[in-house]
Amino acid sequence: MLKLENIHTFYGPINALRGINLEVGKGEIISLIGSNGAGKSTCLMTISGVLHPSEGRILLNGVDIAGEEPHHIVKRGISHVPEGRRIFPKLTVLENLQMGAFLGRGNVRESLETVMGLFPILGERTRQYGGTLSGGEQQMLAIGRALMSDPEILILDEPSLGLAPIMVSKIFRTIHEINARGVTVMLVEQNAKAALRLSHRGYVLESGAITLHGKSSELLDNDKVKHAYLGE
Ligand code: ATP
Repeated sequence: MLKLENIHTFYGPINALRGINLEVGKGEIISLIGSNGAGKSTCLMTISGVLHPSEGRILLNGVDIAGEEPHHIVKRGISHVPEGRRIFPKLTVLENLQMGAFLGRGNVRESLETVMGLFPILGERTRQYGGTLSGGEQQMLAIGRALMSDPEILILDEPSLGLAPIMVSKIFRTIHEINARGVTVMLVEQNAKAALRLSHRGYVLESGAITLHGKSSELLDNDKVKHAYLGE
């Protein structure tokens, strides 16, 4: 469904992605793991159109979307939850969610029902300002906002960052549930073990290139992955 072919992305002279090839199948959860600065966020931002690759193709259901603007890519069915959540702190929970529907494709009322079903707490807090929510609630709001555009592919950048363990488990359970409802997921996580346990397949990114990929169960067993990313 999504295929990256030889993707190169630069920040000025810095070559952050050096020929990325990866594939995401319909209904899969894919995790992208790698150390700080490996290029994980750059890869996600290149897919969602925040950054434009200098070379390569990004095929979504066979159509090359590389270089398209982010709002077009949302309309095509890819929704990105950025690192650090970036909710609108001075808008209410409901307004944050409505902003997510603005660029989207779905029916707003149905999307709201889906999001409130996944995150009942957001339903109880519709009039509360986003900035006054706890970190975990803000992450739920960020994911909920991304789901408001009724995406086929949900891209998540470090959803567990800075959250208490109980909230991390809740977020991971919710990602599983979102996927079970038919949404394909691409996940970047520092918490590589949890990400690989949740995902079907994984890719390891080092200095802007994919160095290893396979079934998540195989990566969890791989000595190099264990040593470098799982702290074993
Ligand atoms: P982290 O887990 O620390 O967020 P990452 O794997 O997501 O790491 P990226 O943020 O994608 O890594 O960064 C990849 C490379 O690009 C790094 O060398 C980083 O310093 C560089 N980089 C990222 N953003 C910029 C920027 N705005 N300008 C210049 N270089 C950047």
